[in-house]
Amino acid sequence: MHWAQAFVKDLHGKQLVSTGISPSGPIHVGNMREILTGHFIYSEMVSKGLEANFIYLCDDIDPLRKMYPFLPGSFEKFVGYPLYRIPSPDGVGTYSEHFLKPFLATLDLIAVKVRVIRSHDLYGNGDFADIIDLSIRRRKEIAEILSGTSGREIEGDWYPYSPVCPKCGRITSTTVVGYEKPFVSYVCKCGNSGKADIRKDDGKMPWRVEWPAKWSVLGVTMEPFGKDHGAAGGSYDTGKLIAEKIFGISAPKPLMYEWISLKGKGTMHSSTGINIAASDFVKMAPPEILRYLIARNQPSRHIEFDPGNGLLTLVDEFERLREEHENGKLDEDRDESYRLSSLGASKEVLSVGFRHLVTLIQIYPDESGLLNAMKRSGYPMDTISENMHNRIAMIKRWLNDFAPEEIKFRLLPVDSEVNINDAEKKLLRSFLEGIDSIQWQANDIHNRIHELLKESGIPPGEGFGIFYKTFIGKSKGPRLGYFFSNLNMEFVKNRLEFASR
Ligand SMILES: [Zn+2]
Repeated sequence: MHWAQAFVKDLHGKQLVSTGISPSGPIHVGNMREILTGHFIYSEMVSKGLEANFIYLCDDIDPLRKMYPFLPGSFEKFVGYPLYRIPSPDGVGTYSEHFLKPFLATLDLIAVKVRVIRSHDLYGNGDFADIIDLSIRRRKEIAEILSGTSGREIEGDWYPYSPVCPKCGRITSTTVVGYEKPFVSYVCKCGNSGKADIRKDDGKMPWRVEWPAKWSVLGVTMEPFGKDHGAAGGSYDTGKLIAEKIFGISAPKPLMYEWISLKGKGTMHSSTGINIAASDFVKMAPPEILRYLIARNQPSRHIEFDPGNGLLTLVDEFERLREEHENGKLDEDRDESYRLSSLGASKEVLSVGFRHLVTLIQIYPDESGLLNAMKRSGYPMDTISENMHNRIAMIKRWLNDFAPEEIKFRLLPVDSEVNINDAEKKLLRSFLEGIDSIQWQANDIHNRIHELLKESGIPPGEGFGIFYKTFIGKSKGPRLGYFFSNLNMEFVKNRLEFASR
């Protein structure tokens, strides 16, 4: 059984799946584990016939915690401001919407439909007013839960509420000094003092109280979260106790997931710059692959994402899965991974394998040459369709930004000089002489070259290298027989003729 099916197996009644990501920086591939885990669980609930809803809480009232490396120096003054009250780094709109927008566009591309709730609206609409009031009245018990589970010392007359100071703009520099419903009195480090209205977005609860407050106000029944929240004494532990003891509800059924790291660099974080934005991922790989990356792995399994060779391998695996799915050869778990990931791309795009296109595009950088080559290979197409054009653009971006050097090549012009010795020229000539008797197919070409190398006593690695050097100016390249079979035979002949003269 697939992990998402196993999770919903015993559920009954109305369900609300909730996810949350702070738009404090680029929303990256690591964050996609949150939203896609929720999406898959929600999909399985719907498949099971449960009444279910799916929300994404955009934590845009969270403060900017520190200066991130991607921010201009002038942003220092906004540290401590709620994200939705900071201008966008590009000068258009707000900070939070700046990072939210490409994320929502990505969700569209990967066909994730979710109700988006901005947390500052929950405060601004007064949805949190009652629970803030309750939390303040029972703040001593909440403080005990917090210090009991997290071991953190809670000092003095603590309030589970942080007002925003309208004078200096910070939500991190006020201290609450009193409460008379619905007003929280505070003093600020900047010298200001005033009253915050709990029915407005004049302030926020600290995360560990806000989280269970959301569960209670919205009716959350299931929530995936990263392992930081799930650790012993972490925010799920405290949230669960606050939910049960103070708010009188059950905590949502948890699903803790492991991090995604970027190969060779470490865990993805928007604050460190170690990440690939989700919106960049879908520019260089089919949207299904992003879904598949999450669907294929148990949430408890750490994912090391390699945007180079690893991505290509992942696409290969998904294409094989599609084939096996169509032939009914998959076990239940893998079939469900496929079903959850698949988006029904156009048949024409699917007819040419991604890896094959990676090679073809490098041989034929212009689309008319590429079209001819595909026709020659027997693909039934008269033009390059828009879908195909987009797929080509995607692969070109991947080649440019992420492909490892050993994948990349450029075909040398037929008459470019190559520095090879007489014995090497002789090898090229003997291949040329028998070329007309070869079936122009990968295997036949490969076998023929192997025979020649055996006859001439040149070790295979070295011998293949002579061909690569002649055609792409490198010592290695795509499998040679396969590579030649994608080239026009006349071109190969002319190139061999010129290079061996
Ligand atoms: Zn202030």
